[in-house]
Amino acid sequence: MATPMTQRIVIVGGGTAGWMTAAAFARLLPAGMSITLVESDNISTVGVGEATIPHIRYFNQLLGIAEREFIQATQATYKLAIEFVGWGDESSRYMHPFSAFGHDLGGIDFHHHWLCARAALPHLRLDSFSLAAQLAHNGRFAPPPPYADLGYGYAFHVDATRYAILLRRYAEKRRVVRCEGTVDYAEQSADGRLSAVVLESGARIEGDFFVDCSGFRSLLLGQAMKVPFTSWKHWLPCDRAIAMASEPLKTIPSFTRSTATGSGWQWRIPLQERTGNGQVYASDYLTDDEAFEQLYQALNSEPVSEPNLLRFEAGCRAQSWKKNCVAVGLSSGFLEPLESTSIYLIQMAIIKCVEYFPINGEHSLSESAFNQWMSTEYHRVRDFLILHYHLNRRTDSRFWQDCAAMSIPDSLQQKIELFRESACIEQYERGLFAQPSWLAVYLGQGLLPTGFDSRALQSPQAATAAKLDSMASHLQQLAQRAPMHGDVIRRGGLSQEGPAVMSLYGERRG
Ligand SMILES: Cc1cc2nc3c(=O)[nH]c(=O)nc-3n(C[C@H](O)[C@H](O)[C@H](O)COP(=O)(O)OP(=O)(O)OC[C@H]3O[C@@H](n4cnc5c(N)ncnc54)[C@H](O)[C@@H]3O)c2cc1C
Repeated sequence: MATPMTQRIVIVGGGTAGWMTAAAFARLLPAGMSITLVESDNISTVGVGEATIPHIRYFNQLLGIAEREFIQATQATYKLAIEFVGWGDESSRYMHPFSAFGHDLGGIDFHHHWLCARAALPHLRLDSFSLAAQLAHNGRFAPPPPYADLGYGYAFHVDATRYAILLRRYAEKRRVVRCEGTVDYAEQSADGRLSAVVLESGARIEGDFFVDCSGFRSLLLGQAMKVPFTSWKHWLPCDRAIAMASEPLKTIPSFTRSTATGSGWQWRIPLQERTGNGQVYASDYLTDDEAFEQLYQALNSEPVSEPNLLRFEAGCRAQSWKKNCVAVGLSSGFLEPLESTSIYLIQMAIIKCVEYFPINGEHSLSESAFNQWMSTEYHRVRDFLILHYHLNRRTDSRFWQDCAAMSIPDSLQQKIELFRESACIEQYERGLFAQPSWLAVYLGQGLLPTGFDSRALQSPQAATAAKLDSMASHLQQLAQRAPMHGDVIRRGGLSQEGPAVMSLYGERRG
């Protein structure tokens, strides 16, 4: 193979984004390339990032990090779903699991049958038809069954700081050189490409390709390359969070909880050795003191850390790749952690960057393909987050009423109207989220469509209701046979569960 022209990669920043990038590049890019990561001991990482979605498992698999090693190193617990409390009206509660609901009958999506037979099944909620949700409700965890229609994904709650340490160890063993120091400024050549970063110590680190993982500062892409930030604050008004850890919960849930509060929401993320808690809020509606008080009052266990105030703005850079600089992580954009998507966005940026990597120095088409891809990813997540706010039916504060009344992006408005009219959900070709996720939020927050697929009427309603009833009770039985989540974690994770799994699911039914 000809020698690649891009030989020196410089990564600025050693948070989750920096070390995920360094580890993946070390594993995936040609051996001849050097990788230097610069991080400053004087500038702390955000270090929250505790809830993930199932894609993180594929990232770890790509690196060859075994699940049990990961669980031990990051104090992780399993995550099957997010429970949303108070997001419809004040008393509503629903699960958004990593799974579909039920399975199609006669080629028609399950939820049309459910909508058709719903009146005869008042005791069954949509999440009665998700094994993942049933496991989560029961405090249990088991690996997904080998039957596609009962299947589900799972993710983790992790200590993000420990994850970065694990990845650092991995990356340093595989040619990544860490350089401690604070970048003062970046040098650019006449054609606008970055050529070096200069540290406060005066040291100069030259490179051919630069990855900006400097967090909200966006040192390279934002400050040096002058790529502007597009704010979505008018749709996602929350701009602050207070994070605080507390003692671990006695029974460790296998789900994240998101509870809507007066002018924002709270997360509860169970780890092995502590519980992550946070209050996300809009500073136009709530003071920091009020936010802290709300968080403190809601803690389920004794605090073990000082409160940590974080400021942010929803939005992203107009492009994530410019010339020989790519931004990964907070330097490219931020969307609040309501659906745990930031680490996923980091992962996508890394994978796409590797796919399009300009080994011969050419980058203009790769740059635009990458930017299109990442822009789609950000827009998809953005719309889905806005949905949660816009569909609320709360009457307890101006914040929630303003969110319900705000005008929303056309892309989202059309999607909601289609569902309202026909119960149909158009599937995206790229990006998050798939149909079941939209369904969970639409129905969970009380948006009942006026119509559904008329073919669901072909079976008598009583017969459909009986079938659905049997499906739900089968899932409930399976869920109750699964091990308690805490026991699986105490045994160090999944791999010892093999025999139990076979006896858990047994023969395929119905
Ligand atoms: C309130 C909140 C909750 C969140 N919860 C979740 C969640 O549940 N799930 C999820 O997926 N994500 C979550 N995130 C996002 C997640 O924290 C980030 O995506 C992730 O930590 C990546 O951050 P980063 O590495 O881009 O930036 P940072 O963590 O800020 O790291 C920046 C790095 O750059 C270095 N640096 C900065 N300036 C310089 C300089 N001049 N010279 C040298 N080095 C420099 C710093 O030292 C640091 O190492 C949350 C974010 C917030 C704000």
